Amino acid sequence: MSSDELMFGNEQAETPPEQRAASLDPWPVLVVDDDEQVHAMTRILLNDFEFEDRRFAIVSAFSAAEARAILAQRTDLPVVLLDVVMETHDAGLRLVHHIRRDLGNRHIRIILRTGQPGQAPEREVIVAYDINDYKSKAELTAQKLFTSLIGAVRGWRDLVTIETLNHSLERRVAERTAELERQSALADQQRRFIENLVEMMPSPVWYRDAAGSCTLCNRAFRELFPDAAGGIEWTIGGYGRKGTGGETFSFETSVVGPDGAPRELLVVKRPLTGADGAPAGLIGIATDITERRLMEHELHRLATTDPLSGAHNRRHILDLLERRLNRQGGADPKSVVGPACLIMLDIDHFKRINDGLGHAAGDAAIRSVVEEIRRHLRPTDQIGRIGGEEFAILLMDTGRNDAAVIAERLRSGLAALSIPLPDGQRFQLTGSFGLTEVRPLADTVECVLGRADHALYRAKALGRNRVELT
Ligand code: GH3
Ligand code: MG
Ligand code: MG
Repeated sequence: MSSDELMFGNEQAETPPEQRAASLDPWPVLVVDDDEQVHAMTRILLNDFEFEDRRFAIVSAFSAAEARAILAQRTDLPVVLLDVVMETHDAGLRLVHHIRRDLGNRHIRIILRTGQPGQAPEREVIVAYDINDYKSKAELTAQKLFTSLIGAVRGWRDLVTIETLNHSLERRVAERTAELERQSALADQQRRFIENLVEMMPSPVWYRDAAGSCTLCNRAFRELFPDAAGGIEWTIGGYGRKGTGGETFSFETSVVGPDGAPRELLVVKRPLTGADGAPAGLIGIATDITERRLMEHELHRLATTDPLSGAHNRRHILDLLERRLNRQGGADPKSVVGPACLIMLDIDHFKRINDGLGHAAGDAAIRSVVEEIRRHLRPTDQIGRIGGEEFAILLMDTGRNDAAVIAERLRSGLAALSIPLPDGQRFQLTGSFGLTEVRPLADTVECVLGRADHALYRAKALGRNRVELT
């Protein structure tokens, strides 16, 4: 409701006063009296009255019953001048009762008027019946009536204004309450949505408070860490890039799963702050990347391994050689690496094995050679299949003389091999070896391979089954 609607009288400053009184509705005054003369007299008395540019107009009722009918229709009556004795000796009082109790009209101002001073109501009656004023008819001078009516109209208007404001206030309170309830319901719905979403997520999610206790977690988290559920203190340790000041940060880590098997986790954490900006805790979410890591390892293995022999493939062994030349491969890339040697091995007269015993025997020979070589190598040494029956062996941290001893051991090992065939027969083979040093920073892969090949060629030329050095 606008403030304009709360105003009465529609005051219009630009209208001349004499026109205003004529144009505005008069104040209605309900006169209830069984004496017609009282009505006439009141009309005459009120004729000249004007209050706030509005005249007064009588609404006449000649009995309490007639007044009831009028009051049932009109709620705009500010005041009633009421006789006490009409149909009955207390018809007026009963009408008051009806107005206040039955109609619930607490605004209308009630002025009792009686002809005889002896009929004046008792004080208790005035209190009990909510009567606002009492005048004897003898007191009905124009001035007194005017004073009473203006007081009554003002009182009525104040009451109506207060009630209108009350209604407006109540409506706003109700609207605001409804809005708050709606917001609260929405917040509740959002909270339940988030709770269920987090609970349903396949990734472990948790919240650690500022004291480090895991106070919230989802089903996936409880399954991965059954001991951590229930808010006991728990830490996912790990390394990684830590953000500064409230940023999300992530790292990879390994944990032992409930079945005792190791699990690889990608952990993302985000610090939360309270309303005061102080650290409140951390939200964490872990993605199980165990399968991904296994797959990556498998892919790497497939990409670097020779499928027939299980040795490194050509690209990988040359890659390892190059890393060695670039001093890479150690835990500390800047540390001084020791000497290394490369041996090129070629199986002698391999074509004969293929031609004489079949291609399968040739394959078996290749596998047996790698197996035999590996028996003599340390875990840090590497073997790769360079071509058909040709291999490169990288001896780490080994000088030329030691490498020569090892090569000789490899040669005699191959010569002593007895390789079984499916039909029970066995066959033997020999290999030729060309050995060269690997000189970090001075060499290239091509140089090293060229020298080793050269030595190998010499071993072949000098009768095979021997080791040559450059
Ligand atoms: P040399 O002593 O001079 O090295 O003679 P060789 O017979 O060993 O050498 P050559 O290069 O003449 O023959 C190599 C043969 O190896 C030819 C090729 O068919 C065979 N070969 C290459 N790759 C494979 C393989 O994967 N399996 C089998 N069974 N044979 C292969
Ligand atoms: Mg050969
Ligand atoms: Mg060959």
